[in-house]
Amino acid sequence: MVVGTVLRSHAGGYLVHSDELGATLKCAARGRLKKERVSILTGDRVEIDEIDSAAGTAVIAARLPRENLLSRPPIANVDQVIIVQAPHQPEWNPLLCDRYLVHYQLEVPGARPLLCINKRDIASSSDLAALQNIYEPLGYTVVIVSAVTGEGMDRLVSLLSGKVSVLAGPSGVGKSSLINFLDPSLHLKLGVVDEDAGVGKHTTTYSQLYGMCIKPGQGAAGHVAERASWVADTPGFSLAELRHPEPNEVFFEFPELVALYDGCKFSNCLHLVEQGCNVLANLDKIAPTRYESYKTLVTEAQAEAKLRRETSQKVESAVKVVGGRDRGVVVPKLSGRYRAASRKTEKQQLLDRAHAEEDLEGGQADDA
Ligand code: GDP
Ligand code: ZN
Repeated sequence: MVVGTVLRSHAGGYLVHSDELGATLKCAARGRLKKERVSILTGDRVEIDEIDSAAGTAVIAARLPRENLLSRPPIANVDQVIIVQAPHQPEWNPLLCDRYLVHYQLEVPGARPLLCINKRDIASSSDLAALQNIYEPLGYTVVIVSAVTGEGMDRLVSLLSGKVSVLAGPSGVGKSSLINFLDPSLHLKLGVVDEDAGVGKHTTTYSQLYGMCIKPGQGAAGHVAERASWVADTPGFSLAELRHPEPNEVFFEFPELVALYDGCKFSNCLHLVEQGCNVLANLDKIAPTRYESYKTLVTEAQAEAKLRRETSQKVESAVKVVGGRDRGVVVPKLSGRYRAASRKTEKQQLLDRAHAEEDLEGGQADDA
């Protein structure tokens, strides 16, 4: 059986690349997979069958187990996420950058995302150095590039070498431009940055893995890529679609806060207003934008958690259990207004039934 990687999963059709065949084929999923509702996503490793090399088609017979799975965008078996941001056009937004970092750290635990700052050609070197000085000491790999001039691209290429990488970030920061730079034959359509809003238009509608022509030996010094390099562009998605973490989850995604946490008086300290908080006592050691981002994200998470609690309380108070503890059934408790309405309906139904019976009797009488 031949194994391949799904490069694109779109509208029930799949583009599958097989190293073994050295070809990319158009595939459909075998009926059994559809019946069993096996999801096949970009990045999935699959077994292919019924290969027709001349027509460039095959059938997906099975999906192999996944190493991991991103939900936004839905891509399987990701080695690394590269958060792409720009210093200008759209304007640098520290909260947005930290939001992306936190989101992808939660999505792929154990794999720190990389931070790629594009458009270095339109930023001052002191501004770029300031950003680098915030994120590098926290353990993030920061690569500063320009998809227009090509500066810094050698380093990006070496970071991509032999891996499956996902470029994530707001639209307009240059994700498609970076992929086009890496493989000019792709001609990905570029979005135009809306100068007024400073926000790019969503141009990509599904995620696809693009094979990069990164030759062995082109990677970091002494490193030879054994695997091809694959890069996925991601469709623009709304921030509202991101998973909302619990308040205490947010904190663990800020390495500089985690480092101070041991000194806090209370183990459940959220580092916002608490007395005896070691984070608050050491705020001068934290980049102000980072603490601002933390505060915003944790406050959002608290509001979300409260909403979730209230909603589940409402659901609980809206049902009652009848029929005893063991054999009880949950029935909705009706509000006064609804109960009145339902009583009326009941009465109406009785009346209707009486009329119907009268009609029936009348009919029968005629027949006789
Ligand atoms: P995406 O939405 O993240 O894929 O962004 P695009 O690749 O579509 O780029 C958005 C706009 O930014 C386009 O007009 C690009 O030409 C421009 N752009 C991309 N990279 C750079 C860069 O490094 N420098 C400058 N000055 N502009 C860039
Ligand atoms: Zn604290």
